[in-house]
Amino acid sequence: MYLYVFNTLGRRRELFTPNDPPLVTMYTCGPTPYDYTHIGHARTFTVFDAIKRYLNLRGYSVFHVQNITDIDDKIINRAREESRDWRSVVEDYTRDYMDMLSALSIRIDLHPRVTDHISDIIRFIERLISKGYAYVAESGSVYFNVESYSDYGKLSGLTSREAWRQEEEFIREKKSPYDFALWKAAKPGEPSWDSPWGRGRPGWHIECSVMSSKYLGSRIDIHGGGVDLVFPHHENEIAQSEAYFNTKPWVKYWLHVSYLTIRGEKMSKSLHNIIPFRDAVKEWGSGALRLWLLSSHYRSNLDYSEQGLEQASRLYERLRDVASRITRRLEKSEPTHVLKDIDILSKLKAINKSWHESLSNDFNFGLAMSSLWEFTSLYYREIDYSESQTILLYAYKSLVEFNRVYAILDDILEKPKATRLEEDLVNLIVQVRGELRARKIYDLSDFIRDNLRKLGIKLLDYRDRTEWVREES
Ligand SMILES: [Zn+2]
Repeated sequence: MYLYVFNTLGRRRELFTPNDPPLVTMYTCGPTPYDYTHIGHARTFTVFDAIKRYLNLRGYSVFHVQNITDIDDKIINRAREESRDWRSVVEDYTRDYMDMLSALSIRIDLHPRVTDHISDIIRFIERLISKGYAYVAESGSVYFNVESYSDYGKLSGLTSREAWRQEEEFIREKKSPYDFALWKAAKPGEPSWDSPWGRGRPGWHIECSVMSSKYLGSRIDIHGGGVDLVFPHHENEIAQSEAYFNTKPWVKYWLHVSYLTIRGEKMSKSLHNIIPFRDAVKEWGSGALRLWLLSSHYRSNLDYSEQGLEQASRLYERLRDVASRITRRLEKSEPTHVLKDIDILSKLKAINKSWHESLSNDFNFGLAMSSLWEFTSLYYREIDYSESQTILLYAYKSLVEFNRVYAILDDILEKPKATRLEEDLVNLIVQVRGELRARKIYDLSDFIRDNLRKLGIKLLDYRDRTEWVREES
């Protein structure tokens, strides 16, 4: 089954062919920790986690880097408002972001921070200056000269130069209103670092060009972020990186996640409708929330509604119930072949196939979710009454595949493996105790018996062997 992705660059669906398969390099723009993580961030990060997980399921090995912008105007302003050190602002809200990642089972391979890469950033800027793409202004700030890069606007599709205007507050010292800062000269009282152009700090866009290439190389397979980053952030990243590396395209596939809206409106401070992740997770639980965040196409807006979340919660409960029933039944089931169930098997296969088809077509999570509903319905309607072990095994295998993307059933589906390990360990201890008894070291063998009892495991000594049972608590 081929995999297609919608590339913002060129705005078309393309066959997914990474530069160096099976490796896939992925860079996504991370948070600026100056406030609590809200459910809009949670959506973007969950979508990329699920995309990565699906690629892994399809046999790719994904290396995922997501930065933390730990120095920025917003952080400095927040520290000033709260009269505290900017580092403590970063620390508090980074912890909140990390809590969100772990609640949603989001795995990131590497989390580079800007302030750990100041010298890399300076070297990158020096080279852009020497190649003629950047210039030093009177204040000691360095700007990227947009006129020097011929493909500007290709990602966002903004062809009118008027639309390129940015960072108007520096218009007096910039060569053109389109230029953007690579390095910002320090203002009094602001955190700053030494550079060849005087003390200052990096601009926002340069960090992603530097840290992505440092860890992923000069060509990247997937670069992603929220749709609000297309312009100017990602447009500027392309200009910087392609100018630096002379490679085109620097990024093969650009993926952007659409907005999370609250009753049809964009979340914003002025509308007072921002929902912090930590409030949402208290109300709905992380599993149902994760499922809901993956309930629509990532390129469509996802609207926050009680109804949508209740539906996701219902599906979550059904999936967990079905997973528990299947694993419980599999523990006891014997190989059987019931020919009449061949019809259920073909229905199961069709559901599994359509789930894969949805995700293979530009990661259509919205459509994929309908396969999950069909799966649970089929279970309650037919599989629960089937005597066939083959059907159970196939249903289990499908659930394991689904869960590799949704990650909400790990504790149930992985239990049989944990139980097996536990049994092997108890057998080993019992065997060692038998050896101690044979050597008449009774104090130690009794110690083992008594302590296993405390753990709910009762030993039954027979003349030639010892058996063990679990005591029901
Ligand atoms: Zn970025």
